[in-house]
Amino acid sequence: MHRWFAVILSVAALGWRVAEPAQKQIAVRAGRLIDGKGDQPVSQALILIEGQRIVSVTPGGAPPAGAEVIDLSRATVLPGLIDTHTHVLLNEDVTQEQYDEQLLKQSIPYRAILAARNARIALDHGFTTLRDLETEGAMYADVDLKTAIDRGEVPGPRLFVSTRAMAPTGMYPLLGYSWELELPHGVQVVDGVENARLAVREQIAHGADWIKFYADRGYFYGPEGVLHSHVNFTEDEARAIVGETHRLGHRVAAHAIGSDGIAAALRAGVDSIEHGDGMTEAEADEMVQKGTYWVPTITVGAAVAPGRGGNWQKMVETERQTFQRALKKGVKIAFGTDVGGFAWTRINQAQEFHYYVEYGMTPLQAIRTATSGAAELLGCADRLGTIEAGKLADLVAVAGDPLADITRLDHVGFVMKEGVVYKNEFK
Ligand SMILES: [Zn+2]
Repeated sequence: MHRWFAVILSVAALGWRVAEPAQKQIAVRAGRLIDGKGDQPVSQALILIEGQRIVSVTPGGAPPAGAEVIDLSRATVLPGLIDTHTHVLLNEDVTQEQYDEQLLKQSIPYRAILAARNARIALDHGFTTLRDLETEGAMYADVDLKTAIDRGEVPGPRLFVSTRAMAPTGMYPLLGYSWELELPHGVQVVDGVENARLAVREQIAHGADWIKFYADRGYFYGPEGVLHSHVNFTEDEARAIVGETHRLGHRVAAHAIGSDGIAAALRAGVDSIEHGDGMTEAEADEMVQKGTYWVPTITVGAAVAPGRGGNWQKMVETERQTFQRALKKGVKIAFGTDVGGFAWTRINQAQEFHYYVEYGMTPLQAIRTATSGAAELLGCADRLGTIEAGKLADLVAVAGDPLADITRLDHVGFVMKEGVVYKNEFK
């Protein structure tokens, strides 16, 4: 008690004599600003940043005296991009061999080193936030990467992590090996209601922001043309996962590709449907009514189809039709690529924008899926997703006008996260 009193006294004395140092101000001149909320871009806007946050956005404004000026007057400035479906701990999963090799021949520390590289790639491409949807057997290494990024030890996007994900016994790789072998699992194996609740508690205790479960597997077309699937969890198990997660104040993402898996996930009350290729009209209506988000991950489907064969090529076409229908009905769509399923080093995540526009969105709608829309799914629309006073200063910039040509987003030339510049090619 004595010692604490002395500390308080000396801090108070310091405060008495030394004025708080003024926070560094950065003034960004944006030639064109897409702020993520307005319908029209603003030309010649001044974005004033103090510390981690945006303090004002003024059309035609002039930088205050003493502020550091970043001149992006030849560029279009947008909110930092958000990819809501990634796997930083995975490096290509077209074939079973590629997947199994990562779990059997690579240590988790080795995979974590590659994950740090992947995080840097994402940031370089303008993605300042990722929702990373499971480590594929790398346990809680996503939490460690998130911690290292938060502490500034390595550069990377802000991560929302989901740790191990869940599937019942025998329904997720590694599969097909001799019963004599004890093998690692790509998920936490969960059977029964009590086990489901325990798994949710364990994952959240170890740092999971989101809970993910695999709602289905084994995708096949019915005679009526609908993409079906085998449902993994019993109704009680799926409800236990969702119920416990919500009770603890977190959200649930469900991998669901076939219509049967999507239906089961919606009955359980999940917050987002991942992939969703086989979504029926009735399921799209249910998602609109419940406000459930859809994360289409079109890039991964197209990337793995040639190597996987079977139904995968047809599923790309099915998903195009599903996308057009869902867009017309007003299903909430959040940008997600499933990068890691395809190699981080081979395809830029921004490819996903091309599909959204090709399938019927306006460029502005597509941009919103990766900014304000994604921020809403993540429950942090108060901090992320738009460029306005009070938000975290996550900004990216591209040459030219992405509203006229969405492929401009393939090359992000400027990246700022929380007021720190990681890349600037416009100097
Ligand atoms: Zn995935």
